[in-house]
Amino acid sequence: MSDDHDHHDGNDEHELRVSKIRDGTVIDHVRGGQALNVLAILGIDGSDGEEVSVGMNVPSDRLARKDIVKVEGRELSQDEVDVLSLIAPDATINIVRDFDVVEKHRVERPDIVEGVLSCPNAGCITTGNEPVTSRFTVLEDGVRCAYCGTIVRDEIASLIDT
Ligand SMILES: [Zn+2]
Repeated sequence: MSDDHDHHDGNDEHELRVSKIRDGTVIDHVRGGQALNVLAILGIDGSDGEEVSVGMNVPSDRLARKDIVKVEGRELSQDEVDVLSLIAPDATINIVRDFDVVEKHRVERPDIVEGVLSCPNAGCITTGNEPVTSRFTVLEDGVRCAYCGTIVRDEIASLIDT
């Protein structure tokens, strides 16, 4: 298979998959089954006509099965990448311009996320009427509310404050 681009970063398969969009972001190496949560984090539900392609449970050498999300015409902000890292800690973010990957980096898990997730504990100070900004400590396998100590491991995407 010949490619008119000549990237030699040792992963041709990766380049081929990524090069299918013109401008936008490809989120690769998402854990299998998390693609729809990635879309939820990005606030994409298709209603605004965004051009999105999702591959789910694609065989991968790095993960047993991975998902891949391609969003045409949009580059992700750092805040979005931070939250993304919570559910897709192995993800690679590829920024594509004019069919070329101009930036490629792994997500990094932040130590703390503030103001992005809402605590599931109804008695938590952050869920009351007082304006207290939510604050979660990022754990190895989840997040912990800095105020009430509630730990969330699954369904982190459902806590996203939109
Ligand atoms: Zn809490």
